[in-house]
Amino acid sequence: MKSKVTGLILAGGRGTRMGRVDKGLQPFQGATLAAHVLRRLAPQAAAVVVNANRNLPQYQALAGVAAVVPDAMGGYEGPLAGLQTGLQHCATELLLTAPCDSPFLPLDLAERLYAAMQAEGADLAVAVTMESDEQDPAAAPYRQPHPVFSLLKADVLPQLDAYLATGARRMEGFFKTLRMAEVLFDDADAFRNINTLQELQRHEREQTPASAPGFGGDPAALHVAEAQRLIRERVAPIAAIERLPLRAALDRVLAEDIISPINVPAYDNSAMDGYALRGADLPAEGAAPVVLKTIGIAYAGRPFAHAPKVGECVRIMTGAAIPPGCDSVIPQELAAAIDGDQVTIAHGAIRSGANLRRAGEDLKAGGIAIAQGKIIRPADLGLVASLGIAEVAVRRKLRVAFFSTGDELRSLGECLDDGCVYDSNRYTLYGMLTRLGCEVTDMGIVRDDPAALEAALRDACKNADAIITSGGVSEGAADYTREIMAVLGDVDFWKLAMRPGRPLAFGKVQSDGDSAWLFGLPGNPVAVMVSFYMFARPALLRMMGAQVTQPAMQARATEAIRKRPGRTEYQRGIVGTGANGEAQVRLTGAQGSGILSSMTEANCIVVLHHEQANVAAGQLVDVLLFDGLV
Ligand code: AMP
Ligand code: MG
Repeated sequence: MKSKVTGLILAGGRGTRMGRVDKGLQPFQGATLAAHVLRRLAPQAAAVVVNANRNLPQYQALAGVAAVVPDAMGGYEGPLAGLQTGLQHCATELLLTAPCDSPFLPLDLAERLYAAMQAEGADLAVAVTMESDEQDPAAAPYRQPHPVFSLLKADVLPQLDAYLATGARRMEGFFKTLRMAEVLFDDADAFRNINTLQELQRHEREQTPASAPGFGGDPAALHVAEAQRLIRERVAPIAAIERLPLRAALDRVLAEDIISPINVPAYDNSAMDGYALRGADLPAEGAAPVVLKTIGIAYAGRPFAHAPKVGECVRIMTGAAIPPGCDSVIPQELAAAIDGDQVTIAHGAIRSGANLRRAGEDLKAGGIAIAQGKIIRPADLGLVASLGIAEVAVRRKLRVAFFSTGDELRSLGECLDDGCVYDSNRYTLYGMLTRLGCEVTDMGIVRDDPAALEAALRDACKNADAIITSGGVSEGAADYTREIMAVLGDVDFWKLAMRPGRPLAFGKVQSDGDSAWLFGLPGNPVAVMVSFYMFARPALLRMMGAQVTQPAMQARATEAIRKRPGRTEYQRGIVGTGANGEAQVRLTGAQGSGILSSMTEANCIVVLHHEQANVAAGQLVDVLLFDGLV
């Protein structure tokens, strides 16, 4: 059934009751409202399309959206106009609609509407709930249809076109012209939509996604997105800036916008080897070819200063300045004939204005060439150099101290006693922090001893902007980290709805006037890496002043993946290209949180979202490529 359904998120409204903000893009529990709707629709449809009339790129950026389409009729004519557009872009037999502000919509919406449609031979099915009058609780409950939650046959489009042509705009009105089935859903809350910013804030406070309708799992555990948000809101970029010669700035975070002092290119020049000419000399349609006389040559770096007269042209090389009076270049291979200084040009060989690189087309003088916050990569070095700029302002490197905790840990070179393990976390952390461009301090192993831990944390505060520890944050008997961290600062200990990596500590520790942000990561070797990538890395990037967007990617699972709704799982995967050229992903064997080989074999993390359930073979899943992360 799913393969017959296209999902349509109705996000094309003006958001009048929300103060004209774009409703679907409002943040809610770590994502946008539309992203929540998408996550719930995607498992029910072959593809999901968004109908939006503003901010199209933001909707397009949602992972898994097939297309974003504005109202065909324009002018914000309401949900029926969105429905028309959705039907126009529906490649399947059925269209399932949901508004962008319904983050709790039922996961069995399509299935139940479809069953009723089939049973009643209807053209469409609409969800209905029983509501009671809030003002008068004694009154009998009434049936409330929800026309924006509907499943329709795609072939009703001509009827809708005709209906809209009469000037009518109400969904209920149109639905009455069709054979309609109604499906009663028990859970009225699942159809609640969020109309005002106050309502949005109230939901944000009251409802943790773990306890939201349709979500299972441990209600005490914190949603990953919520923890990420709490961390992001607390940390801020460091202010210190240094000025570096251009090459030394590679991989650093740009601290000030690069303003172009010049136009790039600085002058109109030729994109081709050929002949510069006056567009007015080109032959008109039906006219005979023209013959132009070459009066000189313009080389790159050696301009030709004379303007050709009527019937004249200038031989020109790629990159050479366009001679005065010329506005077009004909590539030599498009000339009908070249005989000495005589160039014959037929009608239609080029358009007037062709093959010119205009002054300032790459960058305009005074414009922002690169915005601050960018991590400087090879292309940026080149661009800055093309502006003649030799020195750039970058943020000071972030100083990060790290240590491992645990009596069982041994350092390399030590003998491995019974019941001991070599400390691997300091190596993965060293690698991840160094790749991120931090200045690292390895503080070694700290025993499970309160005094040693306190001394280590106090010491780390002195020099570091951030401290990363591993181990000791779970509720294990020998773990004193929690106690000491609590003494030294304002640290939260979270139990997260995720796997691997349930425990996480985050907060500020202070000692003698110095302070640092503390990330207390779990001890298991895979958990430490996953927690670093998901929580520490985004926070450290923010502290570094870096603006980074993680490229989103999806791949088809080659095998079924077990997943329990109610927690986010990060499984290790190998992504590659399937026989049909599509990205596909398989898991790397055992996924235990201590099995580091699963990480070394992997080239990506498969992200199974909080509310996602078992994944069937062939389903699309989100993946995070290690390239770009590490
Ligand atoms: P903990 O969070 O301290 O209870 O540690 C959880 C598990 O991770 C235990 O099996 C530890 O031995 C292991 N572990 C903790 N720290 C490290 C480390 N630095 N290197 C390797 N394994 C570790
Ligand atoms: Mg431990």
